[in-house]
Amino acid sequence: MQKILNFINGEWCESASGKFVPVINPANGKVLAEVTQSTKEDVDRAVQAAKEAQKEWRLVPAPERAEYLYRVAFLLKERKEHLAQVLTSEMGKVIEEGRGEVQEAVDMAFYMAGEGRRQFGDTVPSELRNKFAMSVRVPIGVAGLITPWNFPIAIASWKSLPALVTGNAVVWKPATETPMVAAEFVKIYEEADLPKGLINLVNGSGSEVGNAIVDHPGIDLISFTGSNEVGKAINGRAGALLKRTSLEMGGKNAITVLEDADLDLVVEGILWGAFGTSGQRCTATSRVLVHESVKEALESKLLARVGELKMGDGLDESVKVGPVINRSSLEKIDEYVKIGQQEGAKLLCGGKIATENGLDQGNFYLPTIFTNVTPDMRIAKEEIFGPVVSIISINSLEEAIEVNNSVEFGLSSAVYTASINRAFQAMRDLDTGLLYVNAGTTGAEIHLPFGGTKGTGNGHRDSGVASLDVYTEWKSIYVDFSGKLQRAQIDNN
Ligand code: NAP
Ligand code: MG
Repeated sequence: MQKILNFINGEWCESASGKFVPVINPANGKVLAEVTQSTKEDVDRAVQAAKEAQKEWRLVPAPERAEYLYRVAFLLKERKEHLAQVLTSEMGKVIEEGRGEVQEAVDMAFYMAGEGRRQFGDTVPSELRNKFAMSVRVPIGVAGLITPWNFPIAIASWKSLPALVTGNAVVWKPATETPMVAAEFVKIYEEADLPKGLINLVNGSGSEVGNAIVDHPGIDLISFTGSNEVGKAINGRAGALLKRTSLEMGGKNAITVLEDADLDLVVEGILWGAFGTSGQRCTATSRVLVHESVKEALESKLLARVGELKMGDGLDESVKVGPVINRSSLEKIDEYVKIGQQEGAKLLCGGKIATENGLDQGNFYLPTIFTNVTPDMRIAKEEIFGPVVSIISINSLEEAIEVNNSVEFGLSSAVYTASINRAFQAMRDLDTGLLYVNAGTTGAEIHLPFGGTKGTGNGHRDSGVASLDVYTEWKSIYVDFSGKLQRAQIDNN
């Protein structure tokens, strides 16, 4: 049985706890490997190593740090197929999406390597003579990264690469369900000869290892992606310690369909957004706000296509919908479907656990569409994180905007319309961090900021240049070469 270990101070090692938990393929329930379960002591060792390594790393010129990232980028690219296979087998998303996710990490690595020669600050004229004024980014120290299973390598790349290129060291706890691709990613850092101690992988539970990272005085900032429940708890603990905390959490993303939309294009957007990754993307389409004049036409087009989505093991190239992550997730989805029915929504298709053709060996839920959903229903407000989409009828763009913005989350939204005026109105008024016109709610590119408003986050962003703000402090520097005391705001007035 393959054993997944920790990586601390440049060494692969088992936790002294001696405990391991199985890594399970969600498509068939088979055990793929087992992963070491760490304790607070392992986190301590990782933090010590990180602190020590960061002392030297912060002095390495950023363009030189970037050279390690370029090597990481080429290794990721070279190993794309292998990484995708590992990712799909432990996480379940279909292989095409697995490859896409690895590509996101490749893109991020090249992009962040480029930041080695940018990291621009401001140089401004001083208000006084013979004085120079500028700002520079400086690293914060040790970054604690806590990541989810749904994008196990992409999200880890969004966080670790900007942390490293700006001169920080990393202690990373991946999700318990996806330690294999995490270990493969760290192996790439190792092969790229990243100095020891700069990236440390500590496997284990959220309650033990996650909390130990959040509470550790040697960890200077926390970057977390996951559920709202855990994010809020982390924010409370880390906030009390005055740690910078970047949180990316849930979504309840909607596609708005106006009466002039190209319905065939909309159907493609809904199928991909609602059922891709079995609805387990944070940007998944979980609501469709459709103008009542085209609602029936849209429903019949959707129903005609949804049956074509083949379910099964994501490693099979012909499969379009893979399993959900685990049994408890499957049960939670089923519970929400029952809630929807009790609330009076009408089930158009799906609505149950798939058991035919051997699917009962894995965690499969049939692609599910509800209609006649109203904005006050729980299925219209709460994140289900499965292949379930709710159709809500609206009468105008204004109403759609109101319904779109009525949920606690603000990650992604989309509008389909042929009217440029209405598209621009939607671009201004939909309250989400990501917004698409004539495209579905998923499909972010790595060189723009990623994240959401309201309950989705706390104002920080992953990816893009914006992510540098999570991992750096600003230092404003004044150099006075006048040879005398010059007082700002006094001597120049
Ligand atoms: P989760 O349960 O919150 O777990 C996320 C990470 O936090 C995992 O590594 C988990 O460890 C760890 N964790 C759990 N309890 C913890 C604690 N008390 N202290 C510190 N860390 C703890 O979320 P998930 O179920 O993996 O992922 C699904 C959620 O992530 C969804 O809500 C989804 O919307 C959100 N998500 C958001 C984005 C975004 O960018 N907005 C992207 C992807 C996913 P264990 O695995 O060991 O429990
Ligand atoms: Mg969890």
